[in-house]
Amino acid sequence: MPFMKQNLAGLEAYKAPYITTGIKLDANENTHPIPQALRDHMREWVDSMLISLYPDTNSIALCEALARNYEVPSDWVVCGVGSDQLIDYLLRAVLKEGDKVLAPGPSFSMYRQSTFINGGQLIEVPLASDFSYDVPAFLEGIRKEQPQLIFICNPNNPTGCALTNEEMERIVTSTSALVIIDEAYGEFLGETAIPLVKKYSNLIVLKTFSKAYSLAGARVGYGVAQAPLITMINKIRPPFNLNIFAQEVALWVITHQEAFAPSIAAIVSERERLIKALKELGLTVYNSKANFLWVETPLALDEILTKEEIFIKKMGYNGKPYFRISIGTPKENTLLINVLKKEARVCA
Ligand code: PMP
Repeated sequence: MPFMKQNLAGLEAYKAPYITTGIKLDANENTHPIPQALRDHMREWVDSMLISLYPDTNSIALCEALARNYEVPSDWVVCGVGSDQLIDYLLRAVLKEGDKVLAPGPSFSMYRQSTFINGGQLIEVPLASDFSYDVPAFLEGIRKEQPQLIFICNPNNPTGCALTNEEMERIVTSTSALVIIDEAYGEFLGETAIPLVKKYSNLIVLKTFSKAYSLAGARVGYGVAQAPLITMINKIRPPFNLNIFAQEVALWVITHQEAFAPSIAAIVSERERLIKALKELGLTVYNSKANFLWVETPLALDEILTKEEIFIKKMGYNGKPYFRISIGTPKENTLLINVLKKEARVCA
C-alpha cells in the first residue's frame, strides 16, 4: 500500500483467539465467577444509564476513587482503555524516531509492538537463566544503552518473576529516563510500587482492572504518577476514552475491592498447588508471583489440553518451546492436572 508508513510493512497485527467455551487459561484472566453484587449493581444501573450523553471525558469519579485508594491527589491518576492504551500514550508522548526503550526479555509483547509503532527501538535485557530478574544486568543495560524509556513488568508477564520495591527504587534512581512499572498482575504479588511515585517524578505505575478484578471485558486500566506526567498523558488522551459502562463498573470494583479478595487468595494458594503438581509430572515450572505459570517442556502441552477444551498459551523463547498457563479456579486446575496425569507417560 503506497500510503502506509513504511515501517508498518513487516508488522503483524496483535492476535488473540476469542474463546468462550471450555476452560480458558490462556490470557491471565480471573476465571472465578464475578461477585453477584456486581451483577446486581450493573443491572440496576442499566435502567438509569445516560447512554445518549457523552461520558465524563476525564473519568473523574473513577480517578478520585483510585486516588483515595492510593492516598494520592486525584490529578495523579489517569484512566485508559486498558493499560495497553496508556502504554501507547506514554510511548507517543516520549519517543522520537530511533529512541531506545529498555525492557526485560521475555516480557509483555505490547512493549515491543507499541515501541515499534511509535518509531522507537526496543532493547531487551534478558532475565537470568532461571527466569528471575537480573538487576545488575538491567542496571548495566540502562548505563550502556541510555534509553529514553524503561519498562519494568512486576510481576513479569510471561515468566511471573518479581522485583522488590527496593530493587525497583535502585532502577528508578539510576536514570532520568521515564520508568514505567507495569503492575498488571500486582494484586497477586500483594505489593505495589505506588508509594515510590511520591518520591520520583520520572516514575509511573500502571495497573489494570482486567486481571485480579475480573473486568477484562470492560477495558479499564490506570496510571499513577506525579501531576506533570499525568498532564503529559492527558494532552494525548482522546476525549471520552472510557465509555460510561467501563467507568461505572470500574468505580464499583475499586470501592468494593473486598469482594475480590477471596478469588485473589484462592488463585495465590492454587498457584503453589499447581506448581507442585506440574513439577511432580516432570515439567519444568518456574516460580511465579502472578496468576500464571511459565512452563518449559518439549511436549505439545497445548495440543494435549486443547483436545479436552482446556486452552493455554503456547509461547516459545530463544528457539525453545514454553507455555504460559493461567491459574484457574480449584476445579479448573484439578481438571488440568488430571488431563496431564492421563498423559503422564509422555510427561515423565
Ligand atoms: N501489561 C501486562 C504485563 C499485561 O500482561 C497486559 C495484558 N495482557 C497489559 C498490560 C494490558 O492489560 P489491559 O490493557 O487489559 O489493561
